[in-house]
Amino acid sequence: MRIENIRSETTKGRIRRLADIVWENNARQRQTVWFETGVADEDFLSGSANSFLVGAAIPALGAGERRVSVDAPVCPELKQNLNVACRILSQWYGHRQPPPEIEADVLTSLPPVLGERSTGIFLSGGIDSSASLRANRLQVPRSYPSSVTHGVLVFGYDIGAYADGDANADQQRFEHALGSARAIAEDAELELVLIHTNIRHLNEDLDFWLNYYFGAFLASVAHQLDRKLQSMIINSGPDISTLAPHGSHPLLDPYYGTASMNIIHHGIEYTRLEKTRLVADWPVGFANLRVCTRGEYVNGLNCGICEKCVRTMVALQALGRLSGCGIFPQQEVDPDFFLRKTVISDVYPAFCYEECLSLLDARGEQRLAAAIRTNLRIYQRSKRHRLAKWTDMRRLRHLAWKLDRAYTQGLFYQMFRKVTGRS
Ligand SMILES: [Zn+2]
Repeated sequence: MRIENIRSETTKGRIRRLADIVWENNARQRQTVWFETGVADEDFLSGSANSFLVGAAIPALGAGERRVSVDAPVCPELKQNLNVACRILSQWYGHRQPPPEIEADVLTSLPPVLGERSTGIFLSGGIDSSASLRANRLQVPRSYPSSVTHGVLVFGYDIGAYADGDANADQQRFEHALGSARAIAEDAELELVLIHTNIRHLNEDLDFWLNYYFGAFLASVAHQLDRKLQSMIINSGPDISTLAPHGSHPLLDPYYGTASMNIIHHGIEYTRLEKTRLVADWPVGFANLRVCTRGEYVNGLNCGICEKCVRTMVALQALGRLSGCGIFPQQEVDPDFFLRKTVISDVYPAFCYEECLSLLDARGEQRLAAAIRTNLRIYQRSKRHRLAKWTDMRRLRHLAWKLDRAYTQGLFYQMFRKVTGRS
């Protein structure tokens, strides 16, 4: 892979930093990737080669590219760090081919910094993001460099993730997310920064995203901000007890940092229930909670029926905070609906439901607790779970995706997304 022609363009009040990606060991067309913001926030976009390198190196690893060359100097620490990150991923997922060599000249001095030292956090409005922000505000004195000063909302992360996505629907979802982010940023006294990017289009496969890529993606956004920010917080999903190979991981994310941008993986000390309690005790964070994966925000509410919504609602019901909260259409989780419609399909969601059981029992929510126990037993017995003990299904799915992409131009994957509604 070659990353070349890093440049800037300004059109219609927008500033864009771009680079061309040339695949060398894959029959893929040249791609142009970019990061964009309003011209008023131009100082936030550095156009750093570090950003394009971090955002492209992991897709290069996934595609079996033998090298990643950059025609602009990068941080010498990043060259070393990325090699470590690629080796960790290769070890986790059993790659036989060595990771791509990073070929680039190195910077001989640190890039200039504008303003005072600052720390940013990604604002998705979800449990992980809002809990990390709340914990930072409660625990870190504002005079400390690690006290969060900027919130970053990214179009092209979950919303706008796909090149062939529904642009109107994406825009509508982003408006909702922006409204929540504005309220959260105002209450937490953060400067809000909006970044648009298409760099995820280098590999749109959902399993690749989850298992390899989304930590590096977020770090690539962070490096664009390195003239104004010196640290960026990536919010942890799983806690210590459920840590497993994942695209964002405390062992991995710090290796996406440079001498001028520290990448912090925060929140592994909190379980999902503990994070939910943190957010529920923060009125503005709670009122603007955005967890839905379906993108169907009816009257600004989360749908209340997708697995992520149900998982959050169960935690809130266990905490006695669901009824009347006004962020889901439903006032309580219907045990019959849970039994019929909620499928527990992985270790982490299973743990999230399990940790709610004692609280539900204590609150007398026996029917819901029984429904959860039934679906947990189904999960434990499931063929998927037993297979997962013997082989890594994610690797098989990734191989299927690669074959589909190589021989049918991704036709089966597109059909799968349409049929299942995965976004
Ligand atoms: Zn939902």
